[in-house]
Amino acid sequence: MSAMHPDHFAAKSDPLTGLAGREAAAARLGEWLGHGEKVHALLIGLRRFDALNLAYGTAAGDMVLGEVAQRLKHFAADELEGAWLAARSGGDEFLLLATEPCSRERWQLAAGQLLEALARPIATSWGTMRLSPRGALLRGIEGDNAATVLDRLGQTLDQAMGQSARRLVWADGEATRSGLSAAQLEADLLHALDRGEIEVFYQPQFSCRDDRLTGGEALARWNHPSLGRIGAGALFAIAERADHVAQLSQHIARLALQGARDWPMDLRLSLNVTPNDLASPAFALDFGALVKRSKFPAWRLTLEVTEQVLLADVAHASLALGELARQGMRIALDDFGAGFCNFRYLKLLPLHYLKLDRSMIEGVAGDARDLAVLRAILAMAGALDLKVIAEGVENEAQRALAASEGCAFYQGFLRAQPMGAAEFLELARG
Ligand code: C2E
Ligand code: CA
Ligand code: CA
Repeated sequence: MSAMHPDHFAAKSDPLTGLAGREAAAARLGEWLGHGEKVHALLIGLRRFDALNLAYGTAAGDMVLGEVAQRLKHFAADELEGAWLAARSGGDEFLLLATEPCSRERWQLAAGQLLEALARPIATSWGTMRLSPRGALLRGIEGDNAATVLDRLGQTLDQAMGQSARRLVWADGEATRSGLSAAQLEADLLHALDRGEIEVFYQPQFSCRDDRLTGGEALARWNHPSLGRIGAGALFAIAERADHVAQLSQHIARLALQGARDWPMDLRLSLNVTPNDLASPAFALDFGALVKRSKFPAWRLTLEVTEQVLLADVAHASLALGELARQGMRIALDDFGAGFCNFRYLKLLPLHYLKLDRSMIEGVAGDARDLAVLRAILAMAGALDLKVIAEGVENEAQRALAASEGCAFYQGFLRAQPMGAAEFLELARG
């Protein structure tokens, strides 16, 4: 995972999206290639964008581009382990460069997942928009320079844009490998559960008041035998396609509870619950039983749910969560501020915490309007007796702001990345 934010090396950034511009990307690419780094590139084009611009106007188009940039940046931060750069390389063209030491299959998998994320509906004040992204893939080889790489990517993207069947095309003319078919990955996933390839990491959470460790959030990783480590986002996307989400979730919950068994008593464990999990009629019963069997005290457990949970069936979700809250668990609304922020849900659900999406914290320090929105949310949380957790705190300014504005807890790369169970225990025992 890279702490290197695109802006660090992109003096000339794109004003609309805040990403690096084409020049800055080319310069960086040249530098990396010059140093003999293994560079992987993905050039993305947005089919249908012109039509959308025409139909709704450029203000709507700009909003959509902003959202694409945000998704691109967050994907890179979550999924890539080496240094990376995200750029807007043209009107509706985006470029992702990574010095990921990964296989060709792995890069293709990541690119596919990113395009999937970009194809998800985008909510705007003009209505819900859908894009149809296409991508050109490339692995830098010896003798490449920035100009030849960008050139080949551009030509390949032109081809890809004309195709309706294939979303991704390799710039070296090789076919996208079929050995990595979705079906294969789905089959691999079932083995992964049995073979212990799924690992639970914990990301420490701290008190804003005195910087004390207060608990950890369980985050899943898949150590795939040939592809290497696969992040949680990709892992759940594969499980969803294969209809194995429930199985995977239970597996992770068991592992996470087991790994937290020996934590000091004042530390809480946070578990993510997917919309899929909650939709199951037996969720409260099954999950409650699983927690009892684990011997981890229910009152030290926090369940993190997102707004998506609520779009499905609010009444059912609220009943299930209410039942688990009665057993002592606390409920956090995750990623708050990333979606619609429908305040109605806040009344309908038995909530204890609001967990601010990292986009809420990112730009706030330098933007008066963002700060006003943050303050309004914190005031509302206060009125509803909800404690607020700031997520994605990457620098001291963000931590100080979260603390001074009244967040109770924070979590982020500034203090700690997600870590293995043993390392977390060591930290916890101080
Ligand atoms: P989330 O619940 O919002 O988890 C926080 C994500 O932000 C984690 O990514 C974490 O590594 C990352 N993060 C933490 N601090 C920072 C920071 O300072 N800067 C940046 N840029 N990122 C930071 P991760 O582990 O890749 O998880 C992504 C998403 O996948 C999670 O988002 C969650 O929705 C889902 N997920 C992860 N593990 C599980 C799981 O075990 N079960 C379920 N149901 N979902 C999971
Ligand atoms: Ca979470
Ligand atoms: Ca979150």
